[in-house]
Amino acid sequence: MPITHSLSELFVQSIEQAGNSVVVSDADNCVVLFNQAAELLWGLKRHEVIGQDAKCLLPQPVHGYYQQQENGDGELLILRIPHRDGGQHWGSLSISRVASHAQTYFVTSIKDITRQHEECERLRLLSLVTDHSDNAIIITDENWRISYVNAGFERMSGYRFDQVCGQHPAAMLAPYLNHEVILAARQTLSSGQSIKTDQLTCIQNGERLWCSVVVNPILDNQGRLLNAVGILTDITSTKMHEILQHSMLNAMVREEPLEDLMLLACREIERIAPEVTTSMLLVDEEGLLHPLATHSLRASYCQSMEGIRIGEGVGTCGTAAFRGQPVITKDIASDPLWDGYRHIELPEGLKSCWSTPIMGANQRAIATLAFYFKEVRGPSEFHQRLVDVIVPLCALAIEREKSRAHISQLAFYDSLTELPNRSLLLANTEQALHAAQRNKTSLAVLFIDVDRFKQVNDSFGHPAGDELLQVIARRLQENRSQKDIVGRLSGDEFVVVLPDCDNQRVTELVEQMKLTIAQPCQVGNSRVSPSVSIGVSMFPEDGHDMGTLIHRADMAMYQAKNAGRGRFSFFCHELNQLAQERQAMENALQQALQDGALELHYQPQINIADGRLYGVEALARWHHPHWGQVSPARFIPLAEECGLIVELGLWGIREACRQLAAWRGKGAKLPAISVNLSPTNFHDLALPAMLTQLLDEHQLSPGDLTLELTENILMDTNPSTLKVLNDVHALGIRLAMDDFGTGYSSLSYLRQLPIQELKLDRSFVMDLENDATARTLSDAVIHIGNSLNLTVVAEGIETEGQHEILRQQGYHVAQGYLFSRPLSAPDLERWLLAR
Ligand code: C2E
Ligand code: CA
Ligand code: CA
Repeated sequence: MPITHSLSELFVQSIEQAGNSVVVSDADNCVVLFNQAAELLWGLKRHEVIGQDAKCLLPQPVHGYYQQQENGDGELLILRIPHRDGGQHWGSLSISRVASHAQTYFVTSIKDITRQHEECERLRLLSLVTDHSDNAIIITDENWRISYVNAGFERMSGYRFDQVCGQHPAAMLAPYLNHEVILAARQTLSSGQSIKTDQLTCIQNGERLWCSVVVNPILDNQGRLLNAVGILTDITSTKMHEILQHSMLNAMVREEPLEDLMLLACREIERIAPEVTTSMLLVDEEGLLHPLATHSLRASYCQSMEGIRIGEGVGTCGTAAFRGQPVITKDIASDPLWDGYRHIELPEGLKSCWSTPIMGANQRAIATLAFYFKEVRGPSEFHQRLVDVIVPLCALAIEREKSRAHISQLAFYDSLTELPNRSLLLANTEQALHAAQRNKTSLAVLFIDVDRFKQVNDSFGHPAGDELLQVIARRLQENRSQKDIVGRLSGDEFVVVLPDCDNQRVTELVEQMKLTIAQPCQVGNSRVSPSVSIGVSMFPEDGHDMGTLIHRADMAMYQAKNAGRGRFSFFCHELNQLAQERQAMENALQQALQDGALELHYQPQINIADGRLYGVEALARWHHPHWGQVSPARFIPLAEECGLIVELGLWGIREACRQLAAWRGKGAKLPAISVNLSPTNFHDLALPAMLTQLLDEHQLSPGDLTLELTENILMDTNPSTLKVLNDVHALGIRLAMDDFGTGYSSLSYLRQLPIQELKLDRSFVMDLENDATARTLSDAVIHIGNSLNLTVVAEGIETEGQHEILRQQGYHVAQGYLFSRPLSAPDLERWLLAR
């Protein structure tokens, strides 16, 4: 049928010419027609496609898409069309069903929408960027009204788009900006320039944010403003940091006092958040509150917090400090935390309180920061951020103050007694002295030394010694007046300065002080009655500077100590003279030792049983060109004190050995020689070796030498002493205990010491004839000696009577003027010859 034929021809032609790609497929999904546009879209020739399954073009059977299109609610089918060359297009499909000759055909028309699709995708991605940004983005139209906001804006401000659409952004977000400023900003934007500024921004519910704002204008080709794009970034925390840190740290660098720093913090907070009334309370080590700072709160109100102990239910601050956590009291009038404190009348209008504890390094509240509000409310996000910024700064300032106080405590106070140490003491006394000079008043300097401190340390241990010092430090501070100064100079030495105090008053005060100190007290496991020796110097009589005054008080103290313990003494100029003489003598003694100007004299010792010579005791003699004969009772203690005693002792042994060898060389019959040594000589571990060498050198045997030591050796705590004594004994050198009966004789100790000889002290011998006690004592000593198998020597025998008693009591050896005074070497030679 020509018509039908030409119609179908027309149909085919029009499909062929169609702008869209057309694919016709039959019910079996077999391609029957494929137009030119389709050839281009897929990059396939029709002879490759016609007769093939349409799967080679579309992933699903065409009738499936048709069904989808029929069921779909007007939605276009959009498919990705792969091109032969590997590229791709996007097409929107519309499918129609045609029935012809009892056959069903599907005519699929595909519109190439690649460009639109890509544009859509780009927009989708773009909106992803804006909506997922933390920044708020606002776009206004040519009338400055909001036409777009991103999701970030909704999150930041709390407003939805429909609430802000069509509004003026400045009027809404910065209502306090005046009209001129807004006009000027519009002018700038209209001229094509951007705006950058930091702006306090009002958002929903009266909240505020600090925003960094950037606005860019969008102009058309003619330079007319189409849109403005604003980007807001929340910089609240940064801004707070900037403002608060800047001012607080600057103040800290300027070393401003803590109160000023905290006041500054309160002021800054109230400047940033004018609706807030701040107060800061310090929490001390004991958990008591102390007002620290407030800006607008009444001072009397803060003062009423002084000394309140923190705890559960102690108002908002006391509770927050106690819990170590912030506490919100929305309504003070009804909060049970305030039940016990509502009587502390709150200043007009304050209704709620929010307190944040400021935590110290040890996780304990060191202060509280309170925000008071004039309405019943809690803190806002903005307040929270303000507190987050300010609290660490306050903690820093308070901890810094504490460590500063601690450092100065370490630097200026003695950690044991908590008294001012030497440096602070000197600084304080210097000031007191200036005041005395200015006011022409007198001033007393007391130098205080603890009696027998070394013994306490040695016998009870150092902790006990420390306790004793603490007790004395406390007692020295008792009854002191405000302007008196007490400090620890070193070891067991203290200084007390009494301004405006004359001789009479000092005497009274010192007597009082001695009584206070002498009260019995527990030290370690023992009960002791401490005593001190006190030396006093006076301004202006004894000196005009602290150095001199302390030195002279020290000298006076020495004098007091020499006169017996527990005494006090004023400095006097004779004392000064004595001290100077002492110094001169020290120098001279050193010189004498160097020049060999010392000499030994020898006192014979007699066997009582048979009257034969037992030995001689070597005694040092010093003849000084100006002072003449200086007594060993004088220069031996001096040598002990100035450290010359070791040298002097060694010189004595050497000289004695040399002399004994010389006498033996001359044929003199001398059984033995005794030399006196100080306990200090026995600290030297090299002593035994030195003795061996000396004996070898002079071809003497160890039994020729006796070393005399005093009972002081028992008080000696040097760990070497006992070893050296034993080593010397092991060499075969004899050891004698001198002056027996005068010191801390302890029989058990005596048994431990490797001695062979006891020397009864002269003082007992002196009283033998007149004093029964002395006789009993000397009797006891010979018994002790005999029981320990020791040779017992009685010294200082001056009379026949004494000699007789000692002989009867069974003494072995006698020494004294009765037989001979100590003699020079030549005199002894003559004495020997004369016998
Ligand atoms: P000492 O060891 O007890 O010496 C005995 C002292 O008594 C000597 O005094 C001696 O001259 C004196 N004396 C002896 N017989 C009599 C007497 O019958 N009557 C009286 N009233 N006194 C008598 P000296 O020489 O003045 O020595 C005093 C102390 O000095 C000595 O006491 C001794 O402890 C110490 N000393 C003397 N020379 C040395 C020495 O070379 N080294 C050391 N470390 N100490 C020495
Ligand atoms: Ca002696
Ligand atoms: Ca003696």
